[in-house]
Amino acid sequence: MIVLAPAHLKAIIDAAEAAYPDECCGLLVGRTAPAGDVQVERVEASRNVVDGDAARRFEVDPQLRFDLMRQLAGGETRLVGHYHSHPGHAAQPSAHDLSMAWEPELVWLITAVHDGQAVLTTAHVLDDDGHRFRPIDLRTDDWQADPVRHATAAETNDIPSGENG
Ligand SMILES: [Zn+2]
Repeated sequence: MIVLAPAHLKAIIDAAEAAYPDECCGLLVGRTAPAGDVQVERVEASRNVVDGDAARRFEVDPQLRFDLMRQLAGGETRLVGHYHSHPGHAAQPSAHDLSMAWEPELVWLITAVHDGQAVLTTAHVLDDDGHRFRPIDLRTDDWQADPVRHATAAETNDIPSGENG
């Protein structure tokens, strides 16, 4: 599982929508909990420096990554993953993504954007054999395992409400 603050997820979604119809990309800094869950603590937006079709490909600025790795060296947080968007395509890794994946310790976040709107963000890691991606759970850190139902003002007044499920 990968866990982000809602503000971090929003930053990624906003970047995905702002870059549309091109792909956005960036790096995720955080730590791995003893249970193996990845906690994101920082989101570093990158320029998409791909030499080619930025609507279908992405490349994180190598200078950004270099500077970040130097900054993180010896510290408590590390590079835990990266994100990019799929304008007009599903929030799942493409064959090209798989061909570019070589670091099993990094989580891939992918945001699907349709008509300029981010519609879904999913998380994936390279499987142990390195030949496929495996989806992992993505949650915001305000997630509650056993949600408490809050009555809305409308319900309190016994007025039928168009409640979200
Ligand atoms: Zn992709």
